[in-house]
Amino acid sequence: MTPSARRPRPGTPAKPVHAPRGNWSGTVEYGFRDASRPTTTDEVRRVVTAHDHLRVVGTGHTFNAVTDGDHALLMDRFTDVEPTPDGTSVWVGGGATYADVALALRPHGLALRNLASLPHISVAGAVATATHGSGLTAGNLATHVRSLELVTGTGELLTLHRGEPDHAGAVVSLGSLGVVTRLELDVEQDRPWRQVVLEGLPEPEISSRLEALHSLARSVSIFLRWDGEPARVWLKRREGDPSPPPSADLLQAAEEHHPIAGLDPVHCTPQLDEPGWWADRVPHFLMGFMPSNGDESQSEYHVAREHGPAAVEALRGIGAEIAAAAQTTEIRAVAADDLWLSPQHGQGTWSFHFTWSSRPAAAERAAAAIEEALAPLGARPHWGKVFHHAPRPERLDDFRVLRERLDPDERFVNDWVRRVLLTD
Ligand SMILES: Cc1cc2nc3c(=O)[nH]c(=O)nc-3n(C[C@H](O)[C@H](O)[C@H](O)COP(=O)(O)OP(=O)(O)OC[C@H]3O[C@@H](n4cnc5c(N)ncnc54)[C@H](O)[C@@H]3O)c2cc1C
Repeated sequence: MTPSARRPRPGTPAKPVHAPRGNWSGTVEYGFRDASRPTTTDEVRRVVTAHDHLRVVGTGHTFNAVTDGDHALLMDRFTDVEPTPDGTSVWVGGGATYADVALALRPHGLALRNLASLPHISVAGAVATATHGSGLTAGNLATHVRSLELVTGTGELLTLHRGEPDHAGAVVSLGSLGVVTRLELDVEQDRPWRQVVLEGLPEPEISSRLEALHSLARSVSIFLRWDGEPARVWLKRREGDPSPPPSADLLQAAEEHHPIAGLDPVHCTPQLDEPGWWADRVPHFLMGFMPSNGDESQSEYHVAREHGPAAVEALRGIGAEIAAAAQTTEIRAVAADDLWLSPQHGQGTWSFHFTWSSRPAAAERAAAAIEEALAPLGARPHWGKVFHHAPRPERLDDFRVLRERLDPDERFVNDWVRRVLLTD
């Protein structure tokens, strides 16, 4: 089925398409020479075959050069959202954001199983980098993808369904296989969610309480600053899910908080236990509001479940260095999957996220120190954030073979992809 994207009225002169100059926070400068904004799948195919080197730009919320390239293909005309008749999945356009999807699902009484900290990001861009929320049993957002419609580097249109041989290889693609024109995502019945923040978690107790704290709700985040101050625990519960009582030493916050201490929580989803729409509780930031700080970059490292306590202690060992560069740290859980380039491939993880201040040199130094501290524990970086050492995923060789088959002329290979994925 061809997406019925919004088309300009006949007779309207075509506006020039401007290539984006950089990422969302302005910390990465793009080198695009020009751009196109197709409105149909056939146009996407023509744009692909007309350019030797191109990259799709989603909503630009990555913090490294994964998205950069020569020609920018903008997919923001592909925002259709169509639930399937049986109500178990939804087709979404390759430029739709999670906010687009949530708003379109609402009248159908449907919801997604999980979200990242913000609904502002494009679904295809989030899936391409294995973006995640939190939950001991919640896979990253790429695991929601039942089917993927892709225009490959040869201009061919493929649809890959879960269970078919190439699906697990193609979902987390880092944009290097072609243009995702549509995705089919699993959905569940919409139910109200509630959110509360618990205060007073002593930093030295985090390592021994990771598992117990993350068992308190379907989605849990621990926020801390490595400055000796107690951490906060954010609990997000779906109505009707089991709700074990938290330990008596943690007090429910009487007022709302921003994940970055001291910032106004007006941008954040409600936290005082009021039931509400899932898309206003599962992310930390409200759609339509500025997420996080804006003046920042980010890094994140995923460590296998069994190494969680050791990872927390290793990070405490360099806590002063992290505290000097980070605005906040978040600890989340992500469940294992079978997607070839997913950091959760074959292992559930504890995921340690760092929002850096806008001083790049301090952030680079702290990220390097974290990589050194977590290397013995086999940490894997978030593909969309700042990192130094390229990981070597177990299925990388298989991915390279798939990549060459779908994009033999390397139209979707940029410098970053060559360095990180294609160089030994
Ligand atoms: C404030 C903030 C909060 C964040 N919170 C989280 C979080 O909670 N959890 C987390 O894991 N990450 C988080 N991130 C990181 C972010 O979700 C990821 O980096 C994600 O990949 C961003 O998607 P995008 O479309 O905005 O990025 P882009 O840079 O536009 O795209 C990312 C990649 O996807 C490719 N791509 C995009 N669309 C398509 C398409 N249609 N076809 C083929 N390839 C495509 C691009 O080429 C690029 O390689 C956060 C980022 C910010 C700025």
